[in-house]
Amino acid sequence: MVNSKIQAAEENLIHVYNRFPIALEYGDGMYLYDTEGKEYLDFAAGFAVCGLGYNNKELNEALKAQIDKICHISNLYYHVNCGEAAKELNRISGMDRVFFTNSGSEANEGALKAARRYAYTKKTGRFEFIAMEHSFHGRSFGAVSVTGHEAYREPFEPVLPGVRFAEFNNLDSVKALVNEKTCAIILEPLQGEGGIHPAKQEFMEGIRKICDENGILMICDEVQCGMGRTGSMFAWQDFGVKPDILTMAKAIGNGIPVGAFAMTQEVADFSLKPGDHGATYGGNPLSCAAVKKVIEIFEREDIVGHVKKTAPYLEKRLEEVAGEFEFVTGRRGKGFMQGLVFSRPVSEINLKTIEEGLLVIQAQGNVIRFLPPLIAEEKHIDEMIEKLRRALRKLQ
Ligand SMILES: *Cc1c(COP(=O)(O)O)cnc(C)c1O
Repeated sequence: MVNSKIQAAEENLIHVYNRFPIALEYGDGMYLYDTEGKEYLDFAAGFAVCGLGYNNKELNEALKAQIDKICHISNLYYHVNCGEAAKELNRISGMDRVFFTNSGSEANEGALKAARRYAYTKKTGRFEFIAMEHSFHGRSFGAVSVTGHEAYREPFEPVLPGVRFAEFNNLDSVKALVNEKTCAIILEPLQGEGGIHPAKQEFMEGIRKICDENGILMICDEVQCGMGRTGSMFAWQDFGVKPDILTMAKAIGNGIPVGAFAMTQEVADFSLKPGDHGATYGGNPLSCAAVKKVIEIFEREDIVGHVKKTAPYLEKRLEEVAGEFEFVTGRRGKGFMQGLVFSRPVSEINLKTIEEGLLVIQAQGNVIRFLPPLIAEEKHIDEMIEKLRRALRKLQ
């Protein structure tokens, strides 16, 4: 499988990723193809980015047309795409004000700064953050500081002071950490990287109540679970528990780098002011063309409805597999964000599925994650299950 296309990367990149020994060249719909022409059914979507799959002609045309006009102007000037993308994103996310970033980490950085800025305006003296164990919020300093996995933080300490970790889905453990210095509570409504842990309804409601009673802001990180993935446009909508600040990225650009943090008008009134924050590329005409077109296609094709309708089939078929192999102990997840839990390390499983022409992703805690493009149909799920079975049989 190793070929010369890999050599330049091996010799020149900083080695921070453990890449699999294949070089992918192009994609179409649910499938990716490597430089040898081998086909892979994709249940990874580039880490939940390519919700619409690959080579979506309509999106490609919109991007090409934008490239032929202009890609970048800077935020000294208005461009119609930026305002329109903001309007659409606010409409579908239920928020009022949005700031465009280039990534999920940057969206969370902005959210943390926005929460601190809110406390500063209100002179509350609040600066601490409560985050969750097993959380993942990105790799920049602020984001890594609220990431509940020691391996990501330890080599870079001291990280941001004043961050404390509560047990996910345990309201008492959150309450025990709340004090007069708590500025915000940040959590993923469905933890991805940490091993596919969905928040319980009572937990989301409880966090909202704690925040309301104590003047604390609730930040939901929907970088992975947002944009249709769990069967609602944004995961908070399914809980009916609205955050004060919402972070997004991954699927909102379907592969064009773009992220965002958004807030309610109440927060915006007391938060970031001119000069407080910025991003050179943030919200440029190209990334905003992507956001606008992605939202248009999502709504016209009812991608969210499709995920909601098809997810029970995915769950049923994954549970079948869980019942067949004694080293698979269960399934958890929501919508098209699913995990199978193994009683053994999962590192070899990925290599076996690659041999079978199937891409999946590992998560913490011996979990294999399934994050297919949101256009996956029952026939793709059947094909995935067959390939997965063949891969797992090799490990028996
Ligand atoms: C991927 C991810 C991030 C980080 O996004 P980047 O674009 O890689 O910076 C943050 N939060 C969650 C929940 C994620 O899944």
